[in-house]
Amino acid sequence: MRILITGGSGFIGSFLSEKLVTDGHEVLCLDNLFTGNKENVAHLLDKNNFSFINHDIIDPFYFDGKIDQIYNLACPASPIHYQQNPVRTIKANTIGVINMLGLARAHGAKILQASTSEVYGDPEVSPQKENYRGSVNTIGPRACYDEGKRCAETLFFDYKRMHGMNIKVIRIFNTYGPKMALDDGRVMSNFIIQALKNENITIYGDGSQTRSFCYISDLVDGMVKMMNSDFSGPINLGNPNEMTIKSLAEMIIKKLNSKSKLIFMNLPEDDPKQRCPDISLAKSKLNWEPKVSLEEGLDYISDFFKKKLENIE
Ligand code: UDP
Repeated sequence: MRILITGGSGFIGSFLSEKLVTDGHEVLCLDNLFTGNKENVAHLLDKNNFSFINHDIIDPFYFDGKIDQIYNLACPASPIHYQQNPVRTIKANTIGVINMLGLARAHGAKILQASTSEVYGDPEVSPQKENYRGSVNTIGPRACYDEGKRCAETLFFDYKRMHGMNIKVIRIFNTYGPKMALDDGRVMSNFIIQALKNENITIYGDGSQTRSFCYISDLVDGMVKMMNSDFSGPINLGNPNEMTIKSLAEMIIKKLNSKSKLIFMNLPEDDPKQRCPDISLAKSKLNWEPKVSLEEGLDYISDFFKKKLENIE
């Protein structure tokens, strides 16, 4: 099969590219390299079933030849990056999404949208089920991403209703693993890098807010299962192992035997207080649940950052 992945050299996209190339598919990896990095797919560049194309989905994309599946992942995902140019974030999730839906329609391809737990905003219920409609501040600094992704979901279901297209929507919860960028800015990479350097661990707020962390290989496994299912979603993909940010910091310090101390900083505006996926739908529809424990996943990501930091020094 020929499979297009937008954002294919980003953190998640590069793991997905690798899996699909290994499974023998022809992979077209599209990326504008805003937060993606060609280094993430360097090991695939000489394979004859992989091609890298520098392209921004805000511009239409044409391809001569049949595309069978599209995974639409293109969008910066870390708050510091998606807030850097909020209008561009909205464009990726509206104009970019319309471009990719149009491409899928022209090719008769299945298309999967990487949506997010952020569609639930600062949720009043926990764990979050797919039928919870969310609590988003439409005018806050996170809205470009949250509302952008909500609009992307709407577009997907409108294209399905209007054109009978085969669409899929997954809602990705916090995911971590090797190949996260050193400057990613999200909690997992920040805390591990700080702990490895014995620098202060920067807790935003009092650290009582919760998140649930899913290891990258589990997520990619769920994405492929969803694409090959007959279900449109939306479906939550995440690890329901919920913890406070403070306890994550303490766990990382202990695990890495670090001398880092905790420091408390201002909580960013609209930072969700709790986040935990209800994955009963993924279990029943996809027979999917995460397998990698946080203990194990932390070993993999810490080894990755240790090597990366050694190479810089
Ligand atoms: N956070 C933190 N210190 C950091 C980075 C993030 O305490 O150096 C907190 C952040 O305020 C949020 C949680 O960790 O409550 C997860 O943040 P992240 O940016 O990883 O993703 P989010 O789930 O907010 O999109």
